[in-house]
Amino acid sequence: MTESLAPKSTQQLKTALERIHKRIQQAAEHANRSVDEISLLAVSKKQPLQQMKKLYSLGQGAFGESYTSEAKEKQYNWKTDPVEWHFIGPLQSNKTQYIAEHFQWVQSVDRAKLISRLASQRPPQQAPLNICIQINISAETNKGGCRPGELWDLAQQVASHSNLRLRGIMSIGSKQAESSEYQQMQQLFSLLHARYPQVDTLSMGMSADLETAIDYGATLVRIGNDLFAPRENHHCA
Ligand SMILES: *Cc1c(COP(=O)(O)O)cnc(C)c1O
Repeated sequence: MTESLAPKSTQQLKTALERIHKRIQQAAEHANRSVDEISLLAVSKKQPLQQMKKLYSLGQGAFGESYTSEAKEKQYNWKTDPVEWHFIGPLQSNKTQYIAEHFQWVQSVDRAKLISRLASQRPPQQAPLNICIQINISAETNKGGCRPGELWDLAQQVASHSNLRLRGIMSIGSKQAESSEYQQMQQLFSLLHARYPQVDTLSMGMSADLETAIDYGATLVRIGNDLFAPRENHHCA
């Protein structure tokens, strides 16, 4: 077992959660924004279920998973609480059925085929599946996400299905974290909202860059390491 998987006590998780909320609050103040506009997604990939349950008991209700097989096992063993599940990992066509049936959000939609599959596989008795389109804003070849120019067609397709709900866009920042990338995302978000008023989610910012992301309008930050991993194992500010 690597050190990053060493379980934290509830008290340690509480401290980590409070620290993140504090960072979000300070970043919001710095950006002259209301903290109420910004929500926190706990990224729980590779984290034990017990850790997630502790975090849930501390008030964290939304969790992001990247792998369907891992999510399946966790969801099977955790049916007692109304957790808000977000799928944020690379999407394969043969996994859409499970995701359409067991998640409330999918943030990594980046091609048309996935949209029609998710729409046809979403059970009719369930609320519409919330969708963010992932944009490969840094144009790195190893990364998922569509090109910025492809957003409009994909958005239109999502909006055409009554059991999908277009909520916004998602990006994974590059290591260099160029400010032009954040700027472009902010601009795309604003244009998308102008065209689709229900769009309210700019999902951007992780442990290392949540402050910058909030400065550029992020409404949802996705935090893994700084919540779950021992702090000394991560970047030292
Ligand atoms: C792992 C992951 C995160 C969390 O990153 P941390 O640096 O651990 O905060 C956020 N978003 C996506 C899509 C991820 O895969």
